[in-house]
Amino acid sequence: MSIKDQPKPPRSRLIGNILLSLAGVFLILNFLLPMFLGPQLAAVPYSLFIHQVQEGDVARVQVGQNQIRYQLKAGENQPGQIFTTTPIFDLELPKLLESQGVEFAATPPPKNGWFTSLLGWVIPPLIFVAIWQLFISRGGGGPQGALSIGKSKAKVYVEGESAKITFKDVAGVEEAKVELVEIVDFLKTPQRFTQIGARIPKGVLLVGPPGTGKTLLAKAVAGEAGVPFFSISGSEFVELFVGVGSSRVRDLFDQAKKQAPCIVFIDELDAIGKSRSSSGFYGGNDEREQTLNQLLTEMDGFSAGDQTVIVLAATNRPETLDPALLRPGRFDRQVLVDRPDLAGREAILKIHAQQVKLGPDVDLRTIATRTPGFAGADLANLVNEAALLAARQMREQVAQEDFNEAIERVVAGLEKKSRVLNEKEKKIVAYHEVGHALVGAAMTGGGQVAKISIVPRGMAALGYTLQLPTEDRFLMDEAELRGQIATMLGGRSAEEIVFGSITTGASNDLQRATDLAERMVTTYGMSKVLGPLAYQQGQQSFLDNGVPNPRRMVSEETAKAIDGEVKEIVEQAHDQALDILKRNRDLLETIASKLLETEVIEGEELQGLLGQLQSAAAATV
Ligand code: ADP
Ligand code: MG
Ligand code: ZN
Repeated sequence: MSIKDQPKPPRSRLIGNILLSLAGVFLILNFLLPMFLGPQLAAVPYSLFIHQVQEGDVARVQVGQNQIRYQLKAGENQPGQIFTTTPIFDLELPKLLESQGVEFAATPPPKNGWFTSLLGWVIPPLIFVAIWQLFISRGGGGPQGALSIGKSKAKVYVEGESAKITFKDVAGVEEAKVELVEIVDFLKTPQRFTQIGARIPKGVLLVGPPGTGKTLLAKAVAGEAGVPFFSISGSEFVELFVGVGSSRVRDLFDQAKKQAPCIVFIDELDAIGKSRSSSGFYGGNDEREQTLNQLLTEMDGFSAGDQTVIVLAATNRPETLDPALLRPGRFDRQVLVDRPDLAGREAILKIHAQQVKLGPDVDLRTIATRTPGFAGADLANLVNEAALLAARQMREQVAQEDFNEAIERVVAGLEKKSRVLNEKEKKIVAYHEVGHALVGAAMTGGGQVAKISIVPRGMAALGYTLQLPTEDRFLMDEAELRGQIATMLGGRSAEEIVFGSITTGASNDLQRATDLAERMVTTYGMSKVLGPLAYQQGQQSFLDNGVPNPRRMVSEETAKAIDGEVKEIVEQAHDQALDILKRNRDLLETIASKLLETEVIEGEELQGLLGQLQSAAAATV
């Protein structure tokens, strides 16, 4: 579908809608209301009325413009009935009435006549105006503190505003920063680039998981560039009223072109940029499409040469975007804003730690080591949590222990001391967790088992085993993945060995283990039977949420083979876990009973216990 397939001008649709509602109001006021309010008299055909007059049955007649009311002559013991009829243009009527001796008169104008016409002719325009006002206010009402522009909700950040954000406030995303610094340079000194014939990209798309600092980076660009910065969120484009989204895009770009050089930032682009082929959840797909089409048209409409309008956009769901958005001349440059690595996390912690008073024992490096996978927003949250904990204990400075506690909170949800397990449940949870810990300690690649706890946390976890990576890992080999699966199954295996039965508590472990095994087979090509083929569609998104992608179309035999291999991997890991736990049955008992006593085991005590592990069997993968 080309973008010019649907040139429906939105403004006329808007007016059409209003006229339609106006017509409805009219109908109600002029026809329906009188019908309900007026006296309910039997209406008869005009011909019957004439007939009754000729027969001499009619006593008196009241002739109105739209209606004739008449009363029949009274019978012996009943008053004459009253009927109505609709007149036709009949000049003979007065003559006929007179010849029959019927008393007749014209209807006096109704007493509330002026009021009715007011209702009919003045109120509708008023309603029209009211609806119009509503539109204007919806379109133009910008958020507080920001200067709103015309009908578009965009905010302009003007240079020199208070609390200016610069690149110094962003850390851990160095590659993205380099790209954006280049764009700032271009806006400041375009000659440097145009001299040698370089063309700056029109559209730059910031792509990355939530909370990695995309919005923050865009604000930093605004702060550094010293040019007007229009910012709008994708969700603000798509609103209930038809035609508003696309006219907003038009307004926004009209304004931007007038102010060039400048930056237009569209946050959460996926709200409008969703692929047109994918069916939307809400019926109003059409509206979003028009907005998207308008955006594409606008981006094609200005050339990077004369008007320097650079469009920045951010999304955490690039795979849902319409391919047309990513074509050359539109968002042809994509900047990955990924989760920070160890050094990046330390740098981000440093930025946010400036807001709080740190105690002398705080080591940001250690905190960074313990928080792999945290995005910038998680780290900001972590610092705040730690500060809250310190404040709760009336301390003046944030200590390292506050950070340790805060990490656990952020990772596993808030401690729920109120949840009470009965003795039997507590025992099962204890053995389950020690099972994870022992298998985890015996395996390579999972990191150090740092803590076992049976204090319930959050909504789901009854206990947990904390395994801390000793370094950031980017690649895992097959043995390590198998080790992870075995560790996930360690909890259930311990339950089997000790109690001879299985509880519902292991379902999440099984889910994760099976997902990982499936990915080994279908994504990483680690199955000898199926070979190095990818059986899943598309690439695993970098937003790795652990859920496998849908499968490619495969033959029935292949599907069977995949299922067989996944089962094989999980079962092998299960056997391995059982084997380790059986060999270390005594240690399992020792640690579990200690855990039941203290609820938490960590630090040197835990390392001492795990040091007794006999992991000779672990080598046989
Ligand atoms: P996104 O738009 O990618 O979802 P935000 O830019 O809204 O994330 O980040 C939310 C907050 O988290 C920021 O205001 C900032 O306080 C913090 N933050 C996120 N990433 C970083 C980073 N790379 N450096 C410093 N702070 C960050
Ligand atoms: Mg954001
Ligand atoms: Zn478990």
